Amino acid sequence: NRDGKYSHTAELKRQDAAHHLHPFTDFQDYAAHPGRIISRAEGVYIEDSDGNRILDGMSGLWCCNLGYSQPGIVEAVRKQLSELPFYNNFFQCANEPSVRLAARLASLTPDNFNHVFFTNSGSEANDTNLRLVRRYWDLLDKPNKRIILSRTNAYHGSTIAAASLGGFDFVHRQFETLPYVHHIAQPYWFKDGGELSPEEFGVRVAKDLERAIDELGEDNIAAFIAEPIQGAGGVIVPPESYWPEMRRILAERDILFISDEVICGFGRTGQLFGCQSYGTSPDLITFAKAVTNGFQPLGGVLLGDRVANVLTSGGGEFGHGFTYSGHPAACAAALATLDILEREQLVERVADDIGPYLQRRWQELADHPIVGETRGKGMVAALELVRNKHTRERLEDGGKAGAVCRQFCIESGLVMRAVGDAMIIAPPLVCSHEEIDLLIERATRALDLTA
Ligand code: PLP
Repeated sequence: NRDGKYSHTAELKRQDAAHHLHPFTDFQDYAAHPGRIISRAEGVYIEDSDGNRILDGMSGLWCCNLGYSQPGIVEAVRKQLSELPFYNNFFQCANEPSVRLAARLASLTPDNFNHVFFTNSGSEANDTNLRLVRRYWDLLDKPNKRIILSRTNAYHGSTIAAASLGGFDFVHRQFETLPYVHHIAQPYWFKDGGELSPEEFGVRVAKDLERAIDELGEDNIAAFIAEPIQGAGGVIVPPESYWPEMRRILAERDILFISDEVICGFGRTGQLFGCQSYGTSPDLITFAKAVTNGFQPLGGVLLGDRVANVLTSGGGEFGHGFTYSGHPAACAAALATLDILEREQLVERVADDIGPYLQRRWQELADHPIVGETRGKGMVAALELVRNKHTRERLEDGGKAGAVCRQFCIESGLVMRAVGDAMIIAPPLVCSHEEIDLLIERATRALDLTA
């Protein structure tokens, strides 16, 4: 009964506050204000233990791209667990789903990508990248190539190595980072563009890559890592001029390029990978999250032939791997996810139908008095909260307006995330037009309440 349900919820919240440390959370604050317990999910809605049904504008944590009702994935995992719940890929063994997934990914990805190394998460995949890159240059007898270039405000994960690649200042202030990672500028026009047009700004920021390579020395640089669109940093959609200029610089220099597609991968930008949307040519691709629709933990690195050919021809044992690299249940979930993505032509849907529809409706929010900018691509978008549209003056110091707006979103029945004063969404690719309309309606209500 209802009372039973609420006392059950109260007890769960008490236990949560008393015993459970949450990621990226102020522990003291959480203990004082315990969060919502999410108990169920259906379609593109989540339901909390108090019975509130909320439209999930973030696809979980950018991973449930096909929404929550996917019995095909559930059944594939169940079947795999009953046939072979676990076997590793170490010591001259392989399990069947991991082999089938490796071959499937090789057939789906751009032509020169024919190998994959599996991990459990995006963070571990980026750790793996560092080791692949290191081995590659060592085997080519270029041991001085050690420096990794990354960008400010990037998010590449939370292991020590992945957080070093990331560009979050507050994380770097709390923890030591790897000494050989160097950060260059991000293409955040709304914040840093000043009087420049977005296109002028995009070219100018890209030149920071050229400057860094000249200063640090091409012979000392191993790789550059970047997300096609910075996600967790605030959905920083780059000006159209940015990636062509980056591509020109990268083509002239002998450094590897890692495209971190943990968010952009598997259709979010209207192509299978964000690098295809922007026409860049990476040597390595990081993936995770949506590969299993978030139903099982799985990540990995796709290796282009340039790197794979060196590592697979006499490199000796690669001293790296995880017990669950290529876990059979996770790989079965990924195979079922890819089946649905292809059968329902969801990548094409993002490019031709629901992506343009979301972007058209999202742009309408730019007329709201406290919105300074809207931006987006495919099924990802952001807006900037301001007091003054022309001066870009913020509503409050310290990103508080974002937190206030996020709370009003929840009360209006919508999950929207705040990154400082940027409000961001990445709804499931399967959203209907009506669900996008509802998202815009609820976002507008939250903006009205925030104003
Ligand atoms: N790379 C990017 C671009 C991400 O957005 C994330 C997570 O949000 C990661 C890596 C880390 O992935 P995980 O949380 O699975 O370790």
